[in-house]
Amino acid sequence: MSGLSFHDVSKRFGQATVVDRFTLNVAEGEFVALVGPSGCGKTTSLRMLAGLEEASAGRVMVGARDVTDLPARERNLAMVFQSYALYPHLTAAENIGFALSLQGLGKATIKDRVQRAADRLGIGHLLGRRPKELSGGQRQRVAVARCIVREPAAFLFDEPLSNLDAKLRGTARIEIARLQKSLGITTLYVTHDQVEAMTMADRVVLMEAGRIRQIGTPMDLYHHPVDLFAATFLGSPAMNLLPGEVRHADGEIRFLSAGLDLRLAGTVRCAPGQVTLGLRPEALERLPPGPNRIAISGIVEHVEHLGAETLVQFAVQGAPGTVMTARVPGGWAVRAREPVALSAAQTALHLFDATGAAVPLHFTGPAQASADRLVPA
Ligand code: ATP
Repeated sequence: MSGLSFHDVSKRFGQATVVDRFTLNVAEGEFVALVGPSGCGKTTSLRMLAGLEEASAGRVMVGARDVTDLPARERNLAMVFQSYALYPHLTAAENIGFALSLQGLGKATIKDRVQRAADRLGIGHLLGRRPKELSGGQRQRVAVARCIVREPAAFLFDEPLSNLDAKLRGTARIEIARLQKSLGITTLYVTHDQVEAMTMADRVVLMEAGRIRQIGTPMDLYHHPVDLFAATFLGSPAMNLLPGEVRHADGEIRFLSAGLDLRLAGTVRCAPGQVTLGLRPEALERLPPGPNRIAISGIVEHVEHLGAETLVQFAVQGAPGTVMTARVPGGWAVRAREPVALSAAQTALHLFDATGAAVPLHFTGPAQASADRLVPA
């Protein structure tokens, strides 16, 4: 097992640069997810590492080995596909040992390595079965065993769950994450599904239009998005956004939007100008406004009861045309066309400048807070 790295890797197809100076280090044993919208260059990046696509510039490394100019088979990386990539007419043991027999290893060696790989995955007793006699999860394990038997330096996954239905995807996600941790295998995982990236990976690499926008732990990206793109890509329902303006007046910093006037207490490094205010749905709570909380009220437009939680869409009072979503506990009685009064901690606010970059906000605590209200002007 080894780490993986990309150094200033670019890929051009004709005139189009689809991966632009991609630099990333994946530590040994780490699970890193590449996530981003369709066409942002995730698969191409993975394929350049795997040796299935030639890099136009830059170097890719497996551990300390520069593999940029090596053919795919010499890179010692395992692409993991979905369970249906198993040969239906072969037993689990034959499927797992297939690559080893192609290498010309002796029968006894193959049997031993297959058994060890299967035991590590808890499927040692299923080796005589064909794929159709196995459950989805067991087939997935056979597919993983087929990779680990070759003792690869790392696993590469490309959207392995995209063809599964929602329920199976949920269980397969947990299964893969658990296997990866128990095997301790370095993993690079491509997905367009932010939930997969957030729930499975140690670190997430968010890409857009061939470039890395942000790298961090799932919680880093969620709580500290570097820009509007990161803020809205991660999180479902998406972060609420409110365009407006920051003004400095009488020693106060204020956020103004349509008919709203929000005094930002203890905020520093926030230059005047056009901004977008962001607030995640779960930041809106049914608590009274107070020091360091802002009040937001409105008229409920639509309610989605999900059981444990409820999503409430409401037209924000004082900001015509602005609809926000609040994620509230499932026990709440809330109905369309009724007024709703919510508030959010100031520390839950995000601000983005006119270029979309996050504006650093520093809240200095209750003692220095002034009135913190989002009220109709
Ligand atoms: P998806 O989630 O849809 O799979 P992705 O982020 O994995 O998307 P890539 O498959 O890496 O995106 O493609 C990145 C860009 O490169 C896309 O615009 C795609 O159309 C383009 N592209 C990929 N392969 C080729 C190719 N062989 N020739 C020309 N353009 C290509």
